[in-house]
Amino acid sequence: MVKIPVAQQRLYKNIFVCKRCSLKRRATPKHIIEKRVKCRRCGRNEFRPIRKKT
Ligand SMILES: [Zn+2]
Repeated sequence: MVKIPVAQQRLYKNIFVCKRCSLKRRATPKHIIEKRVKCRRCGRNEFRPIRKKT
């Protein structure tokens, strides 16, 4: 596993992006998996981690 600087990890750890409108949202991964987090713009509950560059 590649080591990631702690500061960067902290910055991106709990931030997810809406798959449809790419709105950034802070949430715990557990909530994302359980789909308890809703996008406040488009109302979807599908998110991806922010680290993946698009
Ligand atoms: Zn959205």
